[in-house]
Amino acid sequence: MTECDHVTGLANYARLQDRLEQAIAGQDPAGPPLWVLLVDLDCYTDVTLDFGPDAADYILSIAAQRLQSCLPRSAMLARLYTDHFAAAIPDSEPPQIERYARKCRKALTQSISVEGIEVVLEPGMGASQYSDGDMLARSLVRQAGIAKAVAKNAGRDFAVYVADHDRRVRQNLVLMHELRRAVQERQLLLHYQPKVDLRTGRVNGVEALVRWQHPLRGMVMPDEFIPIAERTAAIRPLTAWVLDTSMEQLARWRAKGLDFILSANLSVKNLEDPDLPDAVQRLLAKHGLPNEALQLEITETAVMQDPERSIPMLEGLADTGIELSIDDFGRGYGSLTYLQRFPASWLKIDKEFVIGMDADPRNATIVRAAIDMAHQLGMSVTAEGVETKRVLNLLRGLGCDRAQGYLFSKPVPADRIEELAVSICEE
Ligand code: C2E
Ligand code: CA
Ligand code: CA
Repeated sequence: MTECDHVTGLANYARLQDRLEQAIAGQDPAGPPLWVLLVDLDCYTDVTLDFGPDAADYILSIAAQRLQSCLPRSAMLARLYTDHFAAAIPDSEPPQIERYARKCRKALTQSISVEGIEVVLEPGMGASQYSDGDMLARSLVRQAGIAKAVAKNAGRDFAVYVADHDRRVRQNLVLMHELRRAVQERQLLLHYQPKVDLRTGRVNGVEALVRWQHPLRGMVMPDEFIPIAERTAAIRPLTAWVLDTSMEQLARWRAKGLDFILSANLSVKNLEDPDLPDAVQRLLAKHGLPNEALQLEITETAVMQDPERSIPMLEGLADTGIELSIDDFGRGYGSLTYLQRFPASWLKIDKEFVIGMDADPRNATIVRAAIDMAHQLGMSVTAEGVETKRVLNLLRGLGCDRAQGYLFSKPVPADRIEELAVSICEE
């Protein structure tokens, strides 16, 4: 059959379009609407390069089965091209669509064994809803794709299309182009946030956090541009600039007797760069810093993208004495088994759990469990997002090692750090 995808046995784009046109024609304006859910496995090129086309087909067929099992019987699932799937889902309300998306994500993120290696997919998803009489099937699919792109840019895995998304996608495209020049044109700057050692009550480290001083938009925060940089080649020069600039600043502080440890963030794309360990060593040597002065923060989600490649690289870095910290712990969908293999000596609990831990006992339980587990594994723990004295006292009681948050200070320009180091330790 020409309207069937021979790899997965699903419908192809032409058949999905027919189904959508029919559903649109029969849509009851007063009833629950028709939806398109678009799923992108984001793995096709990598899997084809690493394992060959047969393995890619195998992954597609497993993904197709898993998706099918998460969707209602009335839905039609199709493969559009490469690793892009779309489903037409009739008669659904937004909460149902969110539930289907969550189910699909859960099913797709279960690892798939390919030649003895566990491959973990990182699907991106977007949904759109049939809304007015003149809408075409094509536009529904396009809008679901736009929602998926917006979700990805925001570091999320799912979004439902709203009219504002078109503008955001265009804005992100513009930012993407401008970002390439931002590094060369010195539009980036660093703020530093103190980290406090809870045994001594003193500042013993800082985290470098990048900002973009945009000529027209003013200060753009990293959550807006790091996900965009990660999708382009811009992340490499950006990270190199962050490391170089923050190490230069650290050398200045150390020359004044402020023996801080510098923490810098790495993105998943940096872990794909085989030159990273050498580049880090060259920068440490350039600024006359010992390896022990640097801590690199990496999210578990970043490591999980390709653990077979990233873990050896991280082991190499850790062997040289550079400290590694798992960032945003608790936020990802990481598997605990990797925690043991991850050569990190620090674990940083995400602020989402820390901020409300005095009000919500569930958050307090998660923080307690994370601290105990890290200590059992021989790791030390930083809590980020410490905004109140009450939370600080709870963390002290749980044996947390370091804290960072607005209670002590927001991220500030380098010249404010010295006075903060004095005032924080006097408290
Ligand atoms: P992160 O690494 O989890 O950094 C912590 C974020 O929480 C920072 O946001 C910080 O300003 C904020 N924060 C700190 N204390 C508190 C608190 O007490 N309460 C609340 N509500 N928030 C607090 P920021 O600076 O906007 O950075 C956001 C994210 O951008 C970072 O999250 C990190 O993932 C990324 N990022 C920043 N700089 C870099 C960089 O140089 N490279 C890479 N790859 N990512 C970076
Ligand atoms: Ca961090
Ligand atoms: Ca965080």
